[in-house]
Amino acid sequence: MGLLYLGTPLTWDEAKKYADHVRFHGITQFLHTWDRVKDRYGDELLWGDEVEYIVISFDDEGKNAKLSLRQTEILAKLSKIVNELSDDTADSATIPTFHPEYGRYMLESTPGSPYTGSIPDLLSVEDNMRYRRVLARKHLKANEVPLTVTSFPRLGAPGVFTEPHFTADNAVSSQSLFLPEEITNPHARFPTLTANIRSRRGSKVAINLPIFIDDKTPRPFVDPTIPWQRSIYPGDSEAKRGAALNDHIYMDAMGFGMGCCCLQLTFQSCNVDEARRMYDALIPVGPIMLALSAASPIWRGYLADVDCRWNVIAGSVDDRTEEERGLKPLENSKFSIPKSRYDSVDLYISTDWINKPAYNDGIVPYDEPIYDRLRGHGIDDLLSKHIAHLFIRDPLVIFSETINQDDTASNDHFENIQSTNWQTLRFKPPPPKSPIGWRVEFRSMEVQLTDFENAAFAVFIVLLSRAILSFNINFYIPISKVDVNMGRAQQRDAVHSEKFYFRKDVLPPGHTSPTSSVASSSGSNSPVECSNCSLPSKDKKLRNCFPPLARPLHVVDSPVEEEYEEMTVNEIMNGKNASFPGLLGLVDAYLDTIDVEKAERSKIDRYLDFIRRRSNGSLMTAATWMRNFVRSHPAYKFDSVVSQEINYDLMIAIDRIERGIERVPELLPEDYGRN
Ligand code: ADP
Ligand code: MG
Ligand code: MG
Ligand code: MG
Ligand code: MG
Ligand code: MG
Repeated sequence: MGLLYLGTPLTWDEAKKYADHVRFHGITQFLHTWDRVKDRYGDELLWGDEVEYIVISFDDEGKNAKLSLRQTEILAKLSKIVNELSDDTADSATIPTFHPEYGRYMLESTPGSPYTGSIPDLLSVEDNMRYRRVLARKHLKANEVPLTVTSFPRLGAPGVFTEPHFTADNAVSSQSLFLPEEITNPHARFPTLTANIRSRRGSKVAINLPIFIDDKTPRPFVDPTIPWQRSIYPGDSEAKRGAALNDHIYMDAMGFGMGCCCLQLTFQSCNVDEARRMYDALIPVGPIMLALSAASPIWRGYLADVDCRWNVIAGSVDDRTEEERGLKPLENSKFSIPKSRYDSVDLYISTDWINKPAYNDGIVPYDEPIYDRLRGHGIDDLLSKHIAHLFIRDPLVIFSETINQDDTASNDHFENIQSTNWQTLRFKPPPPKSPIGWRVEFRSMEVQLTDFENAAFAVFIVLLSRAILSFNINFYIPISKVDVNMGRAQQRDAVHSEKFYFRKDVLPPGHTSPTSSVASSSGSNSPVECSNCSLPSKDKKLRNCFPPLARPLHVVDSPVEEEYEEMTVNEIMNGKNASFPGLLGLVDAYLDTIDVEKAERSKIDRYLDFIRRRSNGSLMTAATWMRNFVRSHPAYKFDSVVSQEINYDLMIAIDRIERGIERVPELLPEDYGRN
């Protein structure tokens, strides 16, 4: 989330009058950006992570773990501390930045400046994350802790789950039966987003997660904790009129999704084409990493039959009208839209020859006049479609003070639409008046309980991104199959129980090992001129610029359906046979091509070994561990209910695990916290 503008937000009835204005000027702004940066090249690898936390307030006497709603105070304090640090130290990268998030109990932290491609930077990530957590922890109250928990188990459950306590009677923005207004960041942007999504949709959002049916879960499960008869807001009757399904955990507000924490990574690319290759290559990786990082099995006080947050967030900001959702014929809405604005990517965008048209087999509604305008400006079909697809959405929050902008100098209107298309990957154009280049953001992962794990996932994805570029790896499968994988990734224990569509042969045609396909050794390409990043590997930096392989003359195209098959996560990660080395095999092969010192390599291998063990099942996901914790708690009644007491013990345990006090060899390597 970027800077928060202070101003007067428009209600939906007002805002919608400016939707076309924002879209028109948003595109004008993008075209200015395009003219400025389309030929930009030579940006080195810079990258960074975003880690989100919930702040827990422990009540040890009452045995309750509550969400602390002190975000505003905490951020003010942290920003003061960080400023003081900046005055006394020269190393800006180690001074973190803390950002607000949707939940008034959430924090986000990023490194103060991005990491470079140096190996020492790569190996500093865990320390950097730890330092951020330590700083936050140090400036909280004695009974508060920042936990990297993806979804707070008792958000919206009966009883007291926030500190201070509020009821949902005053939930004016969301009209939620469960979440008080005060759960939301008080900055005008957030309540307005919440209310405008509801108004645009024409009802409250409605999320139904299948409940985990345990030995004593009543059947059918009709949720006794829903205040079925409340009548304060017009939306109150929706639950009993069918929005709340039996055998499901019903959630009715944006906060259930946007109040979740995740781990995101952003990479700068050498140039726009490389960013497009990277974006595409990581699309099929998104669901696999979601399954591997699964960490959210408990919702509104119940065990769910899924392990991940994704569908909850998608549902929590689903502003589509009934017409757009296909429930009514199109009359007032322009498009029938298959997905929420928060969902997996709909379109591959690379112009590389390996991106065959057949892979883009999803339904991608797009705004034709916008598409034509982009095409008329000389932008190619796929990128025009990508932007015109994002721009089928309405801007949700408009501030009256910033309706008119200088389109040559601002990208606010563009970002208004861009940044409220929350997909598994985000393709980020360089902002105006900044040194930042083309970037790709990887957004599917759940946040892990410890910074060791968060660093391991970050290191793995950075290295995978380098292996993809340097070996010209091809991960394309039809995008409809990636969508199927997204659904499977969220299933309970997907790492063991599910198979995922994945490409069988990921190496370039004619190559039988990753290292034989290093682009620079192929000779058949005119290398992209790149002054900054084509560093010799002895410079010990992870490089950015690897020219793509040209299409070999005699490639026999096999039918697309024969290019992929269903594999387990273990097979996808650890490999299947010589021609499919697995994502970890690719990373290992990549590491063998660069000059890394022995000690560095062993530190990297510790992270990769963790990912390997998570993939082969010798370590559990956080979701499985949490589910087991609940089911083996003496107070659990095998009725799917995660009580206040169980939640308290779970949060205490997570805090102790993070600090290395409690050993959980089924979750973390034996030596966690010992070095
Ligand atoms: P958002 O919330 O919009 O995704 P943030 O500013 O919270 O963005 O985080 C962006 C991440 O990108 C941070 O980790 C930051 O360090 C990193 N970053 C900043 N500049 C660059 C850059 N030029 N290239 C790559 N990553 C960058
Ligand atoms: Mg965030
Ligand atoms: Mg952010
Ligand atoms: Mg953000
Ligand atoms: Mg978030
Ligand atoms: Mg982000």
